[in-house]
Amino acid sequence: MDTPTVPGADRKPVRTRFAPSPTGRMHLGSARSALYPFLLARSTGGTFILRIEDTDQKRFVPGAEQELIEGLRWLGIEYDEGPDVGGPYGPYRQSERREIYREYAWKLVELGHAFPCFCSPERLERVRQEQMANKQNPRYDGACRGLDPDEARRRAASGEKYVIRFKMPKEGSIATTDLLRGTIVTENSALDDSVLLKSDGLPTYHLAAMTDDHLMGITHVIRGSEWLPSQPLHAHIIRAFGWEEPLFVHLSVFLKPSGKGKMSKREAADALKDGHSIYVSDMKNLGYIPEGVLNWIVLMGWGVSEDDVMTLPEMIARFDINKLTPSPAAINFAKLDHFNGVHIRRLPVEELAARLKPYFVNAGLTVRDADLLKVTPLIRERLVTLDDCLPFGAWFFRETVTPKPEELVAKNLTAAQSAQIARQALEILSGLPEITPATAEPPMRALVERSGLSAGQVFGILRVAVTGQTVSPPLFESMEIVGKEKVLARLRQAIEMLEKMG
Ligand code: GLU
Repeated sequence: MDTPTVPGADRKPVRTRFAPSPTGRMHLGSARSALYPFLLARSTGGTFILRIEDTDQKRFVPGAEQELIEGLRWLGIEYDEGPDVGGPYGPYRQSERREIYREYAWKLVELGHAFPCFCSPERLERVRQEQMANKQNPRYDGACRGLDPDEARRRAASGEKYVIRFKMPKEGSIATTDLLRGTIVTENSALDDSVLLKSDGLPTYHLAAMTDDHLMGITHVIRGSEWLPSQPLHAHIIRAFGWEEPLFVHLSVFLKPSGKGKMSKREAADALKDGHSIYVSDMKNLGYIPEGVLNWIVLMGWGVSEDDVMTLPEMIARFDINKLTPSPAAINFAKLDHFNGVHIRRLPVEELAARLKPYFVNAGLTVRDADLLKVTPLIRERLVTLDDCLPFGAWFFRETVTPKPEELVAKNLTAAQSAQIARQALEILSGLPEITPATAEPPMRALVERSGLSAGQVFGILRVAVTGQTVSPPLFESMEIVGKEKVLARLRQAIEMLEKMG
């Protein structure tokens, strides 16, 4: 395979980051925003960083950072630098870097590209209302742009409340490039004097992210497309400082399964009733495995033409940033189920058994590892999620089964006729030295022949008698694991039940 050329990677080692705001639960969008920069870093021998952007105190959600870290860990997206692992460019939590942003905001004032603004929220609101009444786009009216810088500094130092705004040029235009979308030229007159430093002394995203991307040596900014409209402002900030610009990639948006619009919180909650979720921690609880989730997510925005089943190392080997696509991706839970099932079957038996064990144990079953290793290959074909192991396999670990009497009666037969078949099966099976597919299947097929019934009728009675349920893994393999003694006891129990019915 050709090694994909990574734009910018020839200049210096790649450094990418995932920069989430801890403002809510970790959803598949956040997982993908972490995965692509991780893959880019790993596929180029670069470095991947976790940076927590927690400067918006109004939106801060306690516990959200921990959920992000656990989500990344569960998915296997390891970062080289971050708040809990440290690194040479820390701190990696923006709330611990506030002095840095203040310094850079004032530096921009000194450079003539920013200005302190003392306008009160009330005044700004009044201006906004007037502009809207005049059908103008609401924006800052420039009242403080012309303040004498020394005077402004004195007022700020004296404790007067202020913000620092970017001094957007009134004329000219700026060209910005997105790797997936090409170059866009924006007239500066369309841009606002955006706030860089808020009155609480904390930076806005615009200042904080651009400063950190520079100080942390980020070469490729991969982020959500909701930031595309801010890119001209970001380019202005970067150029005003004279910094080198990273390459920008804005990812596609996620649409709800119907393909129409974004998924609302309510729709996300509805999906959960269906056993699906857009939140990473739910996916884990619903029995999805990280391999399945990652495979599902990685393809929502990456145009892979060949075989699309991949584990993380395979993704790293094949990742090509040039093949990311800007087209929106509709969330398709059927695909998640598909990939999850495929990856469950790709796991080595020992590994899958280890992952299934907690589900059996949590259901109160006593599980011997040796039995689990025999059961796992029998049920894995049917698993979409790990918790499916219970409906398919819990009966293996129960001492006794309790079939529903009516399910023991085969289709188109009476209870007495079904009991008759069960007695014949019991006689055949008790005569065998042991029950295996090789010993049991031929005489049972002969019984089917002799009885003039269908295999479905005869094996159906046996299945319900031995497993207690109408759906099970392959019957004779299942019997082998259950063992002759229990199989016979369960058949006797079934015969009794059927006789009572008749
Ligand atoms: N904190 C921003 C967000 O969560 C990060 C965007 C970026 O990656 O720069 O949307």
